[in-house]
Amino acid sequence: MSAIAPSAVTFDGRFARELKEMAIPWQAEQVPDPRLLVLNEPLAAELGLGAAYLRGPDGLLLLTGNLVPGGATPVAQAYAGHQFGWLAPRLGDGRALLLGEIADADGRLRDVHLKGSGRTPFARGGDGLAAVGPMLREYVVSEAMHAMGIPTTRSLAVVATGRPVLRETLLPGAVLTRVASSHLRVGSFQFARATGDIDLLRRLADHAIARHFPAAAEARNPYVALLQSVIAAQASLVARWMLVGFVHGVMNTDNMTIFGETIDYGPCAFLDAFDPAAVYSSIDETGRYAYRNQPVVAEWNLTRLAESLLPLFHDEQEQAVVLAQDSLAAFRRQYSAAWSAGLRAKIGLPDDLDDDAASPLVDELLSLLQAGRADHTMFFRGLAEAARGRTARVRSLFPDPAAFDAWAVRWSSLGPDADAMDRVNPAYIPRNHLVEEALDAATAGDLDPFARLLEAVTSPYDERPELERYAAAAPEDFGPYRTFCGT
Ligand code: AMP
Ligand code: MG
Repeated sequence: MSAIAPSAVTFDGRFARELKEMAIPWQAEQVPDPRLLVLNEPLAAELGLGAAYLRGPDGLLLLTGNLVPGGATPVAQAYAGHQFGWLAPRLGDGRALLLGEIADADGRLRDVHLKGSGRTPFARGGDGLAAVGPMLREYVVSEAMHAMGIPTTRSLAVVATGRPVLRETLLPGAVLTRVASSHLRVGSFQFARATGDIDLLRRLADHAIARHFPAAAEARNPYVALLQSVIAAQASLVARWMLVGFVHGVMNTDNMTIFGETIDYGPCAFLDAFDPAAVYSSIDETGRYAYRNQPVVAEWNLTRLAESLLPLFHDEQEQAVVLAQDSLAAFRRQYSAAWSAGLRAKIGLPDDLDDDAASPLVDELLSLLQAGRADHTMFFRGLAEAARGRTARVRSLFPDPAAFDAWAVRWSSLGPDADAMDRVNPAYIPRNHLVEEALDAATAGDLDPFARLLEAVTSPYDERPELERYAAAAPEDFGPYRTFCGT
């Protein structure tokens, strides 16, 4: 294996160096026949990686972990996780590797990470591999989230490996190259805490502070400030999910980042018909991760983070618990504020509108959407058109438009700003039927539908007449949507 640096970029191995106890040096599996399926050129440029280099033979080896650049120490990261409420103390990267960190164009450290790169010591029964479909799904959904301004891990490339992967059938295999502000998770802290090594826990917390929340280092209690920073980041993130109708699907503590980026696009989906109880994941039998539960689950996960950090807060446990509880209490306030402000913006009302006027209007709207099972994305996008006096499209989403009409009279009397609405309500999201269509075609070797979908959802606010089908509802025969995890 050669060790040539790609162009002028140097990789660092900071996590591997500072947190050895949580990093197992490991190598990616050999890829027999790498073939580039998609490359994110703007992201490559941010990282200083030349697109021409990445498309070339060495680039493909780099993107699959088969060429280890100078400075990089590929590692499988250890973490724990509450999965559907049950603690798995030793999860870790079973089929992923952290290649290393790169300082981007703004000097920010970014993780370059591989998913589907082969079995690691954390693989348990898994084959360590990933199929083309799920990796392209993560690519398109994460890039759609980014384009909507929602914090997320990014996707740099998907490379087909030429190796088949056995699922229910044999599928083409792939490696996703993921870029993130870091891969520190709530589960990383649970892992460190469970070792009983308080020095490790402190080093992990210091690493997180230095990397993500340097201001916390100046606080009277830096570790409480760390917890508070994570709480604020997650309150804001989950509100953003709720406002676009995103259902993550598997909000286990190992899938919740410290920096507040969305991570791990497995069984995720977007609402079509507005339904607070919506669940898409086939394994979420109790609806733990239903659309409406996401804020509550986030708070539950943050409570697990607080528990993990307790020994750093105060020498006396009782005092530490008080500090944790006081910090956690902020989540509901911060989430509600972000959600309310976001929803007002979606319906074009100013921030400073009196609460007595805005709140009942918002609550009634949500009841109307639920009763009418109106398409979430089409409704909010169409409402701007209604603000311009054209109500036909939005009315047609309700089986009984009379109730909507009554609401709309009160709403329009407040003077909603249609242009501002178009800047926050996407016309294009990765609609479930379009994602399935694109992934089925890609699995069969045709990447055109994927490329067209990607083009639509990466300029989500810019409505283009020729992309009408990307804004339309699923055909009747699409049926109830189910997603699958761990694929
Ligand atoms: P996820 O649900 O994708 O967040 O994964 C949960 C855990 O299962 C993590 O530890 C993964 O690394 C591991 N895992 C998922 N799929 C595989 C696979 N095919 N082979 C090995 N480990 C896997
Ligand atoms: Mg995961």
